Amino acid sequence: MTTLEPGLYIVATPIGNLGDITLRAIETLKSVAAVACEDTRVTGKLLHHLGVKQKLVRFDDHADAAAHERLLGMAAVEAVALVSDAGMPLISDPGYRLVRLARERGVAVTVVPGACAAVSAVALSGLPSDRFLFAGFLPPKDKARRDVLAELAGVPASLVFYETAPRLGDALAAIGDVLAGREVAVARELTKLHEECRTGTAEALAAHYAAHPPRGEIVVVVAPPGETVASAEDADALLRAELAHAKPSQAAAAVARATGLDRKMLYARALELK
Ligand code: SAM
Repeated sequence: MTTLEPGLYIVATPIGNLGDITLRAIETLKSVAAVACEDTRVTGKLLHHLGVKQKLVRFDDHADAAAHERLLGMAAVEAVALVSDAGMPLISDPGYRLVRLARERGVAVTVVPGACAAVSAVALSGLPSDRFLFAGFLPPKDKARRDVLAELAGVPASLVFYETAPRLGDALAAIGDVLAGREVAVARELTKLHEECRTGTAEALAAHYAAHPPRGEIVVVVAPPGETVASAEDADALLRAELAHAKPSQAAAAVARATGLDRKMLYARALELK
């Protein structure tokens, strides 16, 4: 067993396939004085599988100031690992405040990277991967969800969301309305037996998952505004819908925002359709 310097070690764990644990993660989990984790049963199972016996300290979303202080105090004098139930800690998981405080206090922080569902989904989706914006979970309420999507509509990057199976249909409906015409990928059960990644319009994917209710864990990736799958007919349909209640310039602006198509070209077409 190697001896590790005192500090906080952010250690990624698998997102489904246990084979995705890294050699460095195993070595670190063996060598620290304690492992801070969200759920001691989940991490206990992983460590058992790895043949690692460790002291587990609970550190979840509800960790209060005292829990932060306790962990920081430990990490100042010995090596402490931070893991979450799955994947990279801090990515839609606890730890941000802890890491920030550790850095402020001069407690050493080290990262032992590994599996992350967001990055894996971007790679698998075939959607533009040069720029992507990870937006975590969409809000569960429809109005708030649509507000977030509208806020992100102009971002020139692929958008990445974590989703749950029961909410996928509502999320795709909102994406279809607010980000009309864009290509969408639904990446499900990544690294597991039933891994799948389907792409298409939000409407087509919503129809598929209405007929085949999804199970398991899901990442949704939406193509950037410029990467529209909107055809000329789609653009005409969107323009007609907008023209029912808006002036041609407003209709063109709305459809340009949603599809990434050129606003001037859409304005000329809106005048023809009016
Ligand atoms: N920290 C994790 C990571 O690095 O990906 C994410 C934790 S977050 C609480 C859990 C969400 O991540 C799930 O609801 C799902 O959206 C996504 N996720 C985690 N594992 C996944 C998998 N194997 N396949 C697809 N999505 C996954």
